Amino acid sequence: MSLHHGRSLISIPGPSVIPDRVLNAMHRASPNIYEGELHDITLSLFDDLKSVAKTKSDVVIYIANGHGAWEAALKNTLKAGDHVLVLNTGRFAAIWGIMAETHNYQVEVMDFGMAGTVDPSQVSERLAEDTNETIKAVLMVQTDTASSVVNDVPGVRQALDATGHDALLMVDCIAGLACDPYDMDGWGVDVTVAASQKGLMTPAGLAFVYFNEKADAARNRVNPGSYWDWRPRVNPEAYYQRFAGTAPTHHIFALREALNMLVHEEGLAACLERHRRISRAIWQAIDAWGKGSSISHNIQEPELRSYAVSTLKTGPGEATLIRSWCEREAGVTLGIGLGFGEPGTAGWDGHFRIGHMGHFNLPMAMGVLGAIDTAMKAQNIPHGDGALEAATRILAQ
Ligand SMILES: *Cc1c(COP(=O)(O)O)cnc(C)c1O
Repeated sequence: MSLHHGRSLISIPGPSVIPDRVLNAMHRASPNIYEGELHDITLSLFDDLKSVAKTKSDVVIYIANGHGAWEAALKNTLKAGDHVLVLNTGRFAAIWGIMAETHNYQVEVMDFGMAGTVDPSQVSERLAEDTNETIKAVLMVQTDTASSVVNDVPGVRQALDATGHDALLMVDCIAGLACDPYDMDGWGVDVTVAASQKGLMTPAGLAFVYFNEKADAARNRVNPGSYWDWRPRVNPEAYYQRFAGTAPTHHIFALREALNMLVHEEGLAACLERHRRISRAIWQAIDAWGKGSSISHNIQEPELRSYAVSTLKTGPGEATLIRSWCEREAGVTLGIGLGFGEPGTAGWDGHFRIGHMGHFNLPMAMGVLGAIDTAMKAQNIPHGDGALEAATRILAQ
C-alpha cells in the first residue's frame, strides 16, 4: 500500500510551490501586447520588485532563468579579459564563475568549502594585495542553495571599503530573496541577481537584475550586445524594448499576483518572519533526529543557516533512501544532495535538502517533517525521537 495519493508536495529549493492564485492568474487568453492592461501591469511590477530587495536602484526583467541573470550581470559590466574574484561556498558562486570563464573573463575562486561561509577578512587580505585594482568585480551568493549557508554580504562590502577597492560587488540572492533578509542599498551591493521560481512563487522563466549607478557607469565601458543590454530595458522608447521582444505575458500576470500576495497582503516583514519561524522548527526537528544517530545539519552554526533551504547530512546511503521513500510512498519531493558528489557517490547518497522557500506554511512544514520521520521509521534508519514534537513547540511560540 502506498500513501502517495491526493495532492503531492514539492519541497526542493526551487522551483517552489506555486500558489493556486498565481496559477489561476495565468489561466487566460493572450493579451494585447501593444497597449492596455499588460503595459500597466508591467509598469506596476518594478516598485514592488525594488521593495523586496530593499533598493532604489533600477531593476530589469529578462525572460530567462537564474543563469540568464548571471550572464546579464557579467555582460553589462565586464569586458573580456577583466578579472573577477569569486567567493564560493557550496556550489552556486562556483558555477557563476565557470560561466564567467566561458565569456573569457579571468576568474579567481576563493573557496570556503561545502560547509563553510565567506570569511570577509580573507577577502580583505586578497583585495589589499590587488594594488592595481585588476579585480573588476567580486561575485558571491548570499544564500547557497547547495550547502544552505547564508553569507555575510555586508562583511564583504566592508572588506571592499576598508581596502578602498573599487571592484563591483555582485550578489546572487536567487535562493534567499523574500525568505532570508536582504538589503541591497543598506549593504552597498552594486548588482543583485534574482529569479522568479524560488521565494517569489512564480514559474521559472523570469530573471531580475538590479543595478546601481556605479554598476551602470561600468556599463559605459562595455558592449553587452542588444539582448542583454539593460539600458533600453530600463529606459525604453517602446514597450517591447523592456523585453527585447515579446513580453513574457503570462509570467507577468503570475508575478503580479505573487507580488500582491507577498508585498501588499502578507508584507515582506511578515513573510521573512514566517520563513524564520518555519526554519527554526525544521532545525529543531533535525536536532531531535540527530540524537544518537548520524543525522545532522550541514551548517552547524544556526546564525549561518538559511530560512529558504536546509541541507542535512545522514549516514551512508540514508539520504537517498529517505528521499526515494518520501517521493514514492508519500508524494513528497525532497532536494538532492547537490554539490557533495556525483549521483551514486557517498556524498550524494549522504545528503538531502528540505526546501522551505516561498509559499510554505505550517501544514507543509509538518507534512514534510512527518514524511521524513515516517521514511526513517519504515526503513529502520536510526534517528532520535520527538522531532515533530520539537517542531510544533517552535511553531507554537
Ligand atoms: C536556483 C539558483 C540558481 C540557478 O537558477 P536557475 O534558474 O536554475 O538558472 C543560481 N543561484 C542560486 C543561489 C540558486 O538558488
